[in-house]
Amino acid sequence: MSGGLNNPGLIARDRAALWHPYAPASPTLPLWEVEDAEGVRLRLRDDGGARHEAVDAMSSWWSVIHGYRNPLLDAAAKRQLSRFSHVMFGGLTHDPAVELAERLVAMAPADPGRPALGRVFLADSGSVSVEVALKLAVQYQAAAGRPNRQKFLALRGGYHGDTVGAMSVCDPVDGMHAAFGGLVPANVFAPRPPASATATPEDLAAWRDAVERLAAAHADGLAAIVAEPALQGAGGMHAYPPECVRILREVGDRHGLLLILDEIATGFGRTGELFAAGHAGVVPDILCVGKALTGGYLTLAAMLCTGEVAAAVSSAGRLLHGPTFMANPLACAVANASLGILEGGAWREDVRRIESGLARGLAPAAALDAVADVRTIGAVGVVELAHDVDVPAVTRAALRRGVWVRPFRNLVYTMPPYVSSAEDVEAITAGIVGAVAEVHAGVPA
Ligand SMILES: *Cc1c(COP(=O)(O)O)cnc(C)c1O
Repeated sequence: MSGGLNNPGLIARDRAALWHPYAPASPTLPLWEVEDAEGVRLRLRDDGGARHEAVDAMSSWWSVIHGYRNPLLDAAAKRQLSRFSHVMFGGLTHDPAVELAERLVAMAPADPGRPALGRVFLADSGSVSVEVALKLAVQYQAAAGRPNRQKFLALRGGYHGDTVGAMSVCDPVDGMHAAFGGLVPANVFAPRPPASATATPEDLAAWRDAVERLAAAHADGLAAIVAEPALQGAGGMHAYPPECVRILREVGDRHGLLLILDEIATGFGRTGELFAAGHAGVVPDILCVGKALTGGYLTLAAMLCTGEVAAAVSSAGRLLHGPTFMANPLACAVANASLGILEGGAWREDVRRIESGLARGLAPAAALDAVADVRTIGAVGVVELAHDVDVPAVTRAALRRGVWVRPFRNLVYTMPPYVSSAEDVEAITAGIVGAVAEVHAGVPA
């Protein structure tokens, strides 16, 4: 069966049977059926049956960096499909997993002065990789004779996933903690780092003091520091100075805390460095990657840790985690193809081209009264409103301009696939600026 099927009533059937992300069971937000996707384009149908073609400004939430139906990724999936799609990882191994681990180790941030990220745990989603990272840090501290260190120092404004442990290190206000009371473990939160665009040396010094004070006060109960380096994504698309990542590394070292960097959104080139930690020259003890790992084809994530952390935990026992679909071969095979494309190096120029296109194209939005800020970091562009976005109205207005966006809170943002041409990026920025102007500034379409 191929695209272009006529599925009358599909959206009504969806509404009767399915949940969508962060939505009530009977969502009021509009929904579109995807008929087909190729390159950077989605072919959609609305509930009235009308067709829309749109450039995907979201890379399906950071993941589809090489575009839909990428020939190399399609071929890798088909090749693996004809061998085996899945086998258990207990007592068995396979070349897609081993190759992927070796690739990740080779590309991970490194510094001759620190232990290398040499050991890989393949998890089935970003949130699970964060859970594994948190558990590993606790087990590491216990192995080092500090069993009381079971809490984390995290940043306000952070986002690390939706499972309970991951949720506990998300921003305590936006992170839905209030809805779950005692289910979510209490952690320690440092202030959000100052914004890149406005941070003064005094802001940085004040932030450093706040982090240092919290770490000193709670060190006996803390296993690790957890942060998204350089760019907090789902917690507000907040870009902050790399200097802050170095501060986290120093403070953590001083107090015996591991550093867990969550690069599930920022990894694989999105911010202009292969990993955002590279902007700071920081190597963490534990690194989480996901989202773009398979080029957006299949769900897969990875937690990397240093040989030192792995050895400490293993000398005392074993890492207590093991998902059914750990190291799924189909996902690993596609991930290898995706990383193979990145190893070619063209992403660097792609991200630069997209960044300058986004900066140029989004700039006019700054003149709109409703707009509080416009910013880019790597191939991420953000239009921040002074108030919440009218999500259905802006989504529809952008779609009429041939662009798929999914705003949240007060943000209309884009992270285009790396294969987007200059014209695609122009379409995206024109669509976003036009939609925001139409919906929030009353500029006629
Ligand atoms: C998306 C995301 C996660 C969670 O990944 P899932 O695959 O959705 O579980 C964790 N951390 C960051 C920074 C993310 O952007």
